[in-house]
Amino acid sequence: MNCNKTQKLLLTNYSDSEIDERLLKKVENHLLSCNRCKQFLQTLQERAIEPFRNNQEVHVPEEIWQRIKNTIKTIEKEQTGKLLHHLLNRIRFPFRVSRPVFAGIMSALVIIMSVIIIRVSINKKDSINIYLQAQLDFLSYLVSDDDTDGFGIDDPDLGTKIEKYFM
Ligand SMILES: [Zn+2]
Repeated sequence: MNCNKTQKLLLTNYSDSEIDERLLKKVENHLLSCNRCKQFLQTLQERAIEPFRNNQEVHVPEEIWQRIKNTIKTIEKEQTGKLLHHLLNRIRFPFRVSRPVFAGIMSALVIIMSVIIIRVSINKKDSINIYLQAQLDFLSYLVSDDDTDGFGIDDPDLGTKIEKYFM
């Protein structure tokens, strides 16, 4: 490890005791053989770490936090609003249509999309139901190996010849 990287780590993760073991070994090895970095660490500890070691943690009052959060929320809202406005303008601009016409086109689109979505979901549901019913019929046919339920091949109560043939 070179001096530059070592000193960066000394300033950050090393001082915060958040350095992983592999890097800590490398830093310590470097410190053993490099007086410049050893000196750097000593100065760092004397001037930037030790003086603050016994300082009390300062807590920001709740009302200040609240004000910060509110300000962030307001800025986010403003930016989202501006972005939407900008996008709508860009969408509307190339068509050069008036506001009511644009609104009409948009609502027509929404209605068409809803109809398509509803039809697709109904069709899907129907075909799933038909498929499930067919599977159930088939399974109940397979399970019934006795001839009492009317589905057996040699059932004498099948009625017509056609039924006998197909079942
Ligand atoms: Zn060094």
